[in-house]
Amino acid sequence: MNILVCISSVPDTTSKINFTADGKAFDKNGIQFVINPYDEFSLTRAIWFQEKQGATVTVLTVGDASVEPVMRKALAIGANDAIRVDTEPHDSYSTAKEIAKVIAENQYDLILMGRESIDYNGNAVPAMLAAELGWSFVNNCIGLEVEEDQATAVSEIDGGKETVKFKLPAIIAGQKGIVEEKDLKIPNMRGIMQARSKPLNVVEASGAEAQVKADEFEKPEPRSSVTLVDKDNVEELVRLLHEEAKVI
Ligand SMILES: Cc1cc2nc3c(=O)[nH]c(=O)nc-3n(C[C@H](O)[C@H](O)[C@H](O)COP(=O)(O)OP(=O)(O)OC[C@H]3O[C@@H](n4cnc5c(N)ncnc54)[C@H](O)[C@@H]3O)c2cc1C
Repeated sequence: MNILVCISSVPDTTSKINFTADGKAFDKNGIQFVINPYDEFSLTRAIWFQEKQGATVTVLTVGDASVEPVMRKALAIGANDAIRVDTEPHDSYSTAKEIAKVIAENQYDLILMGRESIDYNGNAVPAMLAAELGWSFVNNCIGLEVEEDQATAVSEIDGGKETVKFKLPAIIAGQKGIVEEKDLKIPNMRGIMQARSKPLNVVEASGAEAQVKADEFEKPEPRSSVTLVDKDNVEELVRLLHEEAKVI
């Protein structure tokens, strides 16, 4: 089984987010990038298929050269090889188109992705890719088994779970549950050394055009300070709500 894991390189969740002075772009200065957390769950499941069922795992990122350290981490975790589509992603649609082109030129049975990229939170690329290829698609996947060309997936739905059976090839958007957090793979020294010599192929982008262009980014208003009122001082609470918050 050939598995392609699509990885988005995203700012570390503890990063302080800023935009360029003109508000037109995300300011990458001083930002540490990591594998998108949802993609890490899917990658770990892919490595499980590699170890237990002899699958080959390729990771793919649409991005410029700055994403390569994150891709090397995926190789250190255990992926066999990597493909970088050499372009800066500009919207969900063009990203899906670039991924679709790589899939069309290769032979994959299973595409594992994350439910959502935690930077722009589009929640769109996997479904767009499925539409582009006309393949089966399971979103919010919390369990996945594959037996030859038959797969069974469990996905989270409102208030419950849904189990579906389908034939490969297919696209899966995974999340916590596809593997448990405690089972996430952390690269060891041997993996890091091996990753240095694993193939990371850079391919030219097709030039798929973005459908959406960012006009302006702005951060939410900083939260105002909190005034603590003693639980026995209802009078003071009423005064503050009346005179300062002016809500009563
Ligand atoms: C208006 C706008 C402007 C943007 N400008 C820039 C910019 O200037 N520079 C920049 O770097 N990004 C930019 N982006 C972000 C870029 O478009 C995203 O990387 C891409 O659109 C996918 O993000 P998403 O939130 O739609 O992904 P989602 O649909 O939330 O991601 C779901 C899954 O799709 C896969 N995936 C997502 N992105 C990639 C990827 N790049 N490679 C491989 N797999 C992927 C992952 O498996 C991920 O878990 C911009 C986005 C928007 C909406």
